Amino acid sequence: MIKLFKYLKKYSFFIVLAITFVTIQGILNLYLPNLMADIVNKGVTRGDVDYIWNVGGKMLLITLLNISSAIVATFFAAKVSMLFGKDLRSMVFKRVMNFSLNEIDKFGTSTLITRNTNDITQVQTVVFMLLRLVALAPIMSIGGTIMAVSKSPKLSMVLLVSLPIMFVAIYFIAKYTMPLFRSMQKKIDKLNRILRENLTGVRVIRAFAKTEYEKKRFEGANDDLTQTTLKVNRIFALVFPMIMLIMNFTTIFLIWIGAVQVDKGALQVGDIMAVMQYILQIMFSFIMISIIFIFLPRASASAERIREVLGMESEIKDPDKPAELKKKGEIEFKNVTFFYQGAKEPALENISFKANPGEFIGIIGSAGSGKSTLINLLLRFYDVTNGEILIDGINIKQVSQKELREMISLVPSRPIIFSGTIEENIRIGKEDATEEEIIEALKIAQAWEFVSKLPEGIKTKVSQGGTNLSGGQKQRLAIARGIIGKKNIYIFDDCFSALDFKTDSRVRMALREKLKDSTVIIVSLRVATIMNSDKILVLDNGRIVGIGTHKELMRTSKVYKEIVSSQLSEEEIA
Ligand code: ADP
Ligand code: MG
Repeated sequence: MIKLFKYLKKYSFFIVLAITFVTIQGILNLYLPNLMADIVNKGVTRGDVDYIWNVGGKMLLITLLNISSAIVATFFAAKVSMLFGKDLRSMVFKRVMNFSLNEIDKFGTSTLITRNTNDITQVQTVVFMLLRLVALAPIMSIGGTIMAVSKSPKLSMVLLVSLPIMFVAIYFIAKYTMPLFRSMQKKIDKLNRILRENLTGVRVIRAFAKTEYEKKRFEGANDDLTQTTLKVNRIFALVFPMIMLIMNFTTIFLIWIGAVQVDKGALQVGDIMAVMQYILQIMFSFIMISIIFIFLPRASASAERIREVLGMESEIKDPDKPAELKKKGEIEFKNVTFFYQGAKEPALENISFKANPGEFIGIIGSAGSGKSTLINLLLRFYDVTNGEILIDGINIKQVSQKELREMISLVPSRPIIFSGTIEENIRIGKEDATEEEIIEALKIAQAWEFVSKLPEGIKTKVSQGGTNLSGGQKQRLAIARGIIGKKNIYIFDDCFSALDFKTDSRVRMALREKLKDSTVIIVSLRVATIMNSDKILVLDNGRIVGIGTHKELMRTSKVYKEIVSSQLSEEEIA
């Protein structure tokens, strides 16, 4: 947690203010019992009403000051802790946005969400407590001890008995609650994960009639968290009565010993009352410190989880001096081999090929053969394990990721639609697109047919994830988004599969015309989609088992011939 505190530095001024006002509050707190002793000793016992009014007025004034400084101190403590939380959240967010897919795979989505919300709240709360309470406790306990001893050393001895008893009690509470607090964050993670999976997979869960099972799974995790929280709360339920008990016994002893002293004439009644208040203040300070010590482990577990995210360097970094791309769109893979994190088998092995502007490249291969992986590498979502990928003759590791990706347009195999209007979704591909351009792109993607029939046309709202659209409609919108901007390289990853054959071929014909100056890569499971390409790569199990045109491959590649004969009829092949 200390390591996170460096981000508090820029709020030093507010922290100093908070602590100053807390200190003022503490000193004023210490002054009050003293005045009360005076009222009792000099005013009440002598029947001096004027004196009582006089000192009572002073007490009132001090109390007002006390409250004001408490408010100001709370204000600054809250300000510091909230700003700190805000900073942490945006830092974590920025860091995660810079992660390559590798790091996101490593953490998992739900824990990244918990870390950026709940965990930061924990740390933020403790910062507030530290500023507000812990700063007060030393003043109160040390100052209180000095004041109590100066009033009556004998009475103050009571502390020697009650403090140790309290420490023992708190020790046992802490011992039982600390591990529980630590495990709570993990349980929250789990709950979030199940909730997320259920929300995103709701259709599948219903279709497979797994609702009951999922309900139980959620309830299991929910129960688990509840039980832990309840356990903590049960222990805490004991704390208050226990502390009251210790305090009340302390009071009894004080009055008992004090009464004897007063009898002997060694002490005045007012002094007993003052010492009693001091001792209660001291004990309260220790309770405050202890409570923080109980909360600290949870917060430091959270802090560690936040630091893990902040400390995770993205494996994919921009070079110090990025090279300039020539913006033509030549692609070259040279002996590229790639292993996913922890995988024993390479997802791609020894891939070499070239693609030039104006060419249509088809990639075909069965599911899991590495087609999407190849695309991921070209966009540098992952870095190659061996070999190199060149664009316009420059290794893509030597250019900035932004520049690289600005050259490329990707239509992924699973269309991602964001909440907003259709127009906004298309504009992601080209911010300043005119309405005509949007409609043209929609027409090329064969999406205009259905969009034009919608009551509000391109202004129609789509829900998050595009759930109010069909799979094919989403796919067409994604294609329109992919082609609207002028790019050097266009990649269509298996995105024609949700279209029927006729639409598929119409889209491709339109693309031939529109994208004729660019390098176009079309990935598909369907022969018909790629058979007219200038060059076809046949992938099998992460390797290229054939490169060439349809005609050439029919002669040279067994795998290709098998795929073709399984999909096309005799006359289509001919
Ligand atoms: P395709 O797109 O040809 O269907 P992919 O390129 O998606 O195939 O996957 C190729 C192989 O890599 C598969 O065996 C798959 O299990 C594996 N793979 C894909 N993505 C990941 C990932 N993020 N982590 C680990 N393995 C992966
Ligand atoms: Mg794929």
